[in-house]
Amino acid sequence: MRSSVTAYVGLGANLGDARATVLRAMQEIAGIDGVVLNRRSALYASTPVDANGPDYVNAVVQVLTHLKASKLLEALQTIETQAGRTRPYRNAPRTLDLDILLYANAHITRSKLTVPHPRMWERAFVLVPLAEIAPDCVHADQLHAVRGQSIEKLQ
Ligand code: AMP
Repeated sequence: MRSSVTAYVGLGANLGDARATVLRAMQEIAGIDGVVLNRRSALYASTPVDANGPDYVNAVVQVLTHLKASKLLEALQTIETQAGRTRPYRNAPRTLDLDILLYANAHITRSKLTVPHPRMWERAFVLVPLAEIAPDCVHADQLHAVRGQSIEKLQ
């Protein structure tokens, strides 16, 4: 059996009952064959970056997985599709967005998968929940750089 690696997945939703969608997606990620959900951040509300629409609900989870990164992405995209995700245009509001942020220490540059996620370092809605569950993965300078972005921990 392949040994398991630690990966981080970012979750975001801003259509419908976004909080319920994110919580359900966490359960579905935990249910992927070959994935153990090890840690989850709190839920956060954030104002859309480079986009419009309602506020997002965001979170980050840490998973342990035997799946290759490409298989993990496929499983996450199945969950997105089941949540009713469509892609009418870039940065459109979305029922559910799941991104692989980090996959062990891998650097992956393929047409369908770039890891670390190329825009994660610019986004408070990724870095703040990631720092909550994996403080060693985020440097204080990186958090400082996104301090102007609106993000609030939900109860
Ligand atoms: P989005 O519209 O933000 O959900 O982008 C989805 C597209 O980004 C998919 O076609 C993926 O193949 C691609 N992609 C590239 N890198 C990643 C990543 N690290 N996590 C998730 N999707 C990725």
